[in-house]
Amino acid sequence: MKPPRFDYVRATSTEEAIEVLAEHGDDARVLAGGQSLVAMLNMRLVAPEVIVDISRVPELATITRTEDAIEVGAAVTQAATERFEGLAAHLPLLARALPFVGHYQTRARGTVCGSLAHADPSSELPLCLAALDGEVVLRSSRGTRIMAAADFQHDVLTTACEPDEMIVAVRFPLHVPGDGCAFTEFGIRHGDFAIVAVAVLANAERVRVGVGGCSDRPHVTEFPLLDGDALSERLNALAWSLPFDDDHHAGARYRRDLVRILGRQAVEAAMRCPRRTH
Ligand SMILES: Cc1cc2nc3c(=O)[nH]c(=O)nc-3n(C[C@H](O)[C@H](O)[C@H](O)COP(=O)(O)OP(=O)(O)OC[C@H]3O[C@@H](n4cnc5c(N)ncnc54)[C@H](O)[C@@H]3O)c2cc1C
Repeated sequence: MKPPRFDYVRATSTEEAIEVLAEHGDDARVLAGGQSLVAMLNMRLVAPEVIVDISRVPELATITRTEDAIEVGAAVTQAATERFEGLAAHLPLLARALPFVGHYQTRARGTVCGSLAHADPSSELPLCLAALDGEVVLRSSRGTRIMAAADFQHDVLTTACEPDEMIVAVRFPLHVPGDGCAFTEFGIRHGDFAIVAVAVLANAERVRVGVGGCSDRPHVTEFPLLDGDALSERLNALAWSLPFDDDHHAGARYRRDLVRILGRQAVEAAMRCPRRTH
């Protein structure tokens, strides 16, 4: 199908994009990489009157390493983030997860912030941001808000981003040297959205386990370092606590099994050697 008619604005600055959003609100949509939006337009799941393309706004196309985070601008593609020098050292979880996000071709266009804005509960990048306890930087004509990942995504394709707001950047906290991390997922084929994805961070005392593929959004939980039966019991309790649905990809029971199996693999990998990442 072809998309409905819309006006197209190619923004040259963040201010210009924000002005369009302030004027049109709910009738406007941001276009970043177009890897989800174009499909939604063609299927007529959305029908905005105005599309504001931010992909060529220079100030949004930067990745910066600050004292405590890597800040990725809203026009930075997933492929450019993968190539960012030092990613494996400073953000090993993201370096592990990015190759699972679609295909090289989709990562060459799709942006990190676009994936967060789209808020698919099976997406790898919102899961990593939640596991890392990162932040989303939102801007509108009313000002700038910085929001914790835990407060940003509410439900399937639903976030705290208001119609007149856009994400200008996302902040991933830097890896703590000596800690461990692991990322794994199961999908039908490589490049598909995950049936279940697991992101784990481990320090000398605790593990933080994020699970994607739930029915609403990524879920993150923390518990002390465990092994053997104690770990199996904790992961079983986690599997039962998560909201899973039966859908045409997999049943809830299958997803709970994946949490037990992938969860164990990822927790053990992250704990095995805190000085290395897996
Ligand atoms: C074949 C294929 C396979 C894929 N597989 C995966 C996968 O395995 N895992 C995965 O996570 N994703 C996957 N995707 C989706 C892909 O990662 C998209 O890039 C991502 O979901 C959206 O990023 P985008 O930059 O393309 O955003 P767009 O498509 O441009 O926008 C998506 C939505 O976010 C909004 N938006 C975008 N940027 C902003 C912003 N800065 N502020 C406010 N709103 C904004 C748009 O208005 C729109 O509603 C796949 C896509 C394809 C085509």
